[in-house]
Amino acid sequence: MAYEKLELFIDGKWSQGTSGKSQDVINPATEEVLGTLPHASTADLDAALTAADKGFKIWRNTTPIARQIILDKAADLMEERKPSIAKNISREMGKPVGEASLEMDFVIGCLRWDAEQGKRAYGRLIPARIPGQRQMMIKEPVGPVAAFVAWNFPASNVMRKLGNALGAGCSIIMKADEETPSSAIAMARCFQDAGLPDGVLNLVFGVPSEISSYLLDSPIIKKLSFTGSTPVGMLLQAQAAKRMIRCTMELGGHAPVMIFNDADIAAAAQMCSATKFRNAGQVCISPTRFYVQEGVYDEFAERMAQHAKDIVVAEGITEGAQMGPLIGERRLGVMQDLVDDAVSHGAELLAGGERLGNKGFFYKPTVLKGVPEEAKIMNEEPFGPVAPVASFKDFDEVIERANKLEYGLASYAFTTDGAKANAIGDQINAGMFGVNHFGIATPETPFGGVNHSGYGTEGGEEGITAYQRVKFISEIGV
Ligand code: NAD
Repeated sequence: MAYEKLELFIDGKWSQGTSGKSQDVINPATEEVLGTLPHASTADLDAALTAADKGFKIWRNTTPIARQIILDKAADLMEERKPSIAKNISREMGKPVGEASLEMDFVIGCLRWDAEQGKRAYGRLIPARIPGQRQMMIKEPVGPVAAFVAWNFPASNVMRKLGNALGAGCSIIMKADEETPSSAIAMARCFQDAGLPDGVLNLVFGVPSEISSYLLDSPIIKKLSFTGSTPVGMLLQAQAAKRMIRCTMELGGHAPVMIFNDADIAAAAQMCSATKFRNAGQVCISPTRFYVQEGVYDEFAERMAQHAKDIVVAEGITEGAQMGPLIGERRLGVMQDLVDDAVSHGAELLAGGERLGNKGFFYKPTVLKGVPEEAKIMNEEPFGPVAPVASFKDFDEVIERANKLEYGLASYAFTTDGAKANAIGDQINAGMFGVNHFGIATPETPFGGVNHSGYGTEGGEEGITAYQRVKFISEIGV
């Protein structure tokens, strides 16, 4: 199967752009070059801005029902093309094809949800103070959007933003990630084939900081949406402030998992392992710090280690692969540094702890026990297949430790005690909390963080709301 043809998409036209610059896209499992991705020039970005401005005028005046028909048709095409899109995600990003296929299911679900939800941009009538007066609140699309997303879910990070923006009636310039461009391109082809008007969706690639600086300096852009690390999110928010551009920030996380004596430990260890090593741990809501109550600590750590040793690590397109490589060579050094640092702080290495082979960027599923709070991995987002496990005595202690970081994206607990689960739900500093499972991301539910994990949720009705603005209209004598 051929890899996707890599192109820019501006004003309904596919091209190699005019910069003459490009970069190779690498398969992280084999280190082979999959394709060459063109970079946009500033002239290309100007064309994308003009197109987004024009596209917004068309799309905002298209009725939500007419928009839904096009978006649903695009979702149908994504369904049809899913096998090849998923395979290419696996080849360029490393995740097993099955995971990539599930990612596409999620993408299609998000698009259908947003297409439907766009019809519910309800305003309200507010009782007037003066006879004959009519007071109305209406919601309208905020305007052309600039969006930038990370590589770890190349299709769903993109669709979270496209679905919300297009469902709300906004146009968008998307800069998908340069290491994993194929699914964004394939999805743009689906939108075009479904009849999305030219200019409503534009897709560019290049040097990320140059593109964001250029786009955020334009008076055309009215919203910024970013998925990526906290430092880059802070930088972009500062740039957006200069033009009072509103932001949605989906940033890093460091999810605590609190496992209590009363939990079903075999089930908890099985779920924790499957979820920790999914996508090689490169997931913003990945369970990250495992706090285990003393009575079940040894059993949990041993079960986690055994699961980690059993995981089949291989190229994502290989039959039976459960975990693929990391996205790039740079991540291998980060993993080794975190593991070595934890061990030097007294942690015990129960599984993994080193690179696997010397071709491709594979790192063994790793479990560390007895990891002290001072170890780097308990404070910095690992974004990889390393699970640090530590013990705790009681409820108050574990809540304090779970809440100690500036991050506040996902959090989890395993307990059969409803009162305890509710108390954590009340006290945890996080945007999301899962009890006895990890399934906290669905198209219809709000997804997002607090504090250094960002703000402005995607998914659910809140996702669309973030791309709308409120207008108040007061009429007398009409
Ligand atoms: P990163 O911030 O370095 O890069 C993320 C994306 O932003 C990449 O595509 C990168 O090219 C781009 N980028 C970098 N600098 C930019 C700039 N100045 N302007 C515009 N774009 C820029 O992060 P990373 O380490 O590559 O990705 C992983 C991070 O993303 C983790 O922190 C992870 O938690 C976070 N993430 C968050 C969510 C969420 O929904 N909260 C989802 C996925 C990933």
